[in-house]
Amino acid sequence: MNLKVIKKHLVKNSNIAVPYFLQQSHNFLLNVPAGNMSALTDDPNHFVKFCQDIDPAFNAGTFVSRRLYGDYLEFILRQETERSGETLLEEIHCEAIAVRQQSGDNAYQVDLADGRSLRSDQVVLAFGHFSPEDPVPVANVYETGTYISNPWDSVALERIHGDTPVALLGAGLTALDVLFRLTSNNDTRKIYLISRRGLVPQPHRSHPKAPVVAGFPTFLKNVPPTVRAYFRALRLQIKRNAAQGGDWRDVINALRPHTPEIWRRFSVAERQKFLSRVVPYWDIHRHRLAPAAHLRLSGMLKSGQVEAIAGYVQDYKMCGENVSIEIRERHTGRSRKLNVGRVVNCTGPNCNIAKITVPLIVQLRNEGYLKQDPNKLGFEVNDRYQVINNQGHPARNLFYVGPALKASYWEAIAIAELRAHTRYLAEILKE
Ligand SMILES: Cc1cc2nc3c(=O)[nH]c(=O)nc-3n(C[C@H](O)[C@H](O)[C@H](O)COP(=O)(O)OP(=O)(O)OC[C@H]3O[C@@H](n4cnc5c(N)ncnc54)[C@H](O)[C@@H]3O)c2cc1C
Repeated sequence: MNLKVIKKHLVKNSNIAVPYFLQQSHNFLLNVPAGNMSALTDDPNHFVKFCQDIDPAFNAGTFVSRRLYGDYLEFILRQETERSGETLLEEIHCEAIAVRQQSGDNAYQVDLADGRSLRSDQVVLAFGHFSPEDPVPVANVYETGTYISNPWDSVALERIHGDTPVALLGAGLTALDVLFRLTSNNDTRKIYLISRRGLVPQPHRSHPKAPVVAGFPTFLKNVPPTVRAYFRALRLQIKRNAAQGGDWRDVINALRPHTPEIWRRFSVAERQKFLSRVVPYWDIHRHRLAPAAHLRLSGMLKSGQVEAIAGYVQDYKMCGENVSIEIRERHTGRSRKLNVGRVVNCTGPNCNIAKITVPLIVQLRNEGYLKQDPNKLGFEVNDRYQVINNQGHPARNLFYVGPALKASYWEAIAIAELRAHTRYLAEILKE
């Protein structure tokens, strides 16, 4: 099989999320221990061995830097390119702007931004995350240079002066990335984390236990498939486990391989309930921080340098060179004003394909190649990863793998799940 890997150059102001792990400095740690970050399903220790070749002190429980993980992915690709020879695997650095089926043919034409076109019998869409959607009231300050729409735009972040107070919209892992970046030179600027509930991610344990692979949790077996019933049973199980000296993380970890099945059991309406009411609580327990990063965050919250605010942004107004943000506090209903030099949008990747303005998505959407899922988490793909078109039919040779699989599986954005999906897809492509 002739394989072409199309990668986009890092483009300033692009609303494509840049390859996540490659743009990171060594200051940023993975949120997952090394033992769960192998790219290869059949060699779970592959990444740990790569790290140990650099420093034997690394082990499966180490939280290594994201940059090192980026180096690892590059290393695997380079090794594969050398092994297969350039005639089989070719890396093209250019943005794909359109993918169209050729008439009377099962093949596709892929148009690149530099004017070239490629013909391919099979196409795998693997474009990763898209940068967050802009909140509506921000229109007042959008063009002023005080608002940073893309939290992965390191150039814009580096331009922020050391003592400028900054408001981060969102308080999840993306916001914490930005926070650590903005305080990496021991800057003492004030940072506000604004989110609907004011929650921040929980820490991993210092010595995480490897998850035990077990069958579908018995405590959920006879529970009706509603969000309320499942979470009541989950809380009870966490209590029972704690009474025996266990840790809540083990209960959450044990659910992970069964999340797709639980998601499948929920109706569209129950999924929507989960997304609108439960997801902030689920996210801070499921998407945890490395212990060292959490310690740093706690220190900054304690000293008052960082403030987590639970509330809803009502308005943004320019006030001299600064932005005045009006917030309605969640718990008191009172209005509060913050005066900051910059606002950074960290509300999480945009997965609503109706709102994504990247050329490739616009083309695929407008020409009917994609069908949005009912919960607006991505688009529909069948269990052979074939993309479902807007008429409900699977495309024979157009496939997708990546975080939008969460529309079908919910748990699909971390490497542990993506490597398994990628492996199954590779088998299908070889059929
Ligand atoms: C803050 C944060 C922290 C995270 N930490 C972890 C962690 O510790 N552990 C973990 O397992 N997961 C983590 N994740 C999740 C993980 O990073 C992503 O889900 C994963 O990288 C997705 O892989 P991917 O290959 O689908 O997409 P990506 O890694 O985003 O790669 C997509 C590639 O496609 C390219 N591309 C996009 N569009 C085009 C186009 N039109 N033409 C050409 N090329 C294109 C991009 O430039 C990029 O190279 C984290 C995510 C975030 C946001």
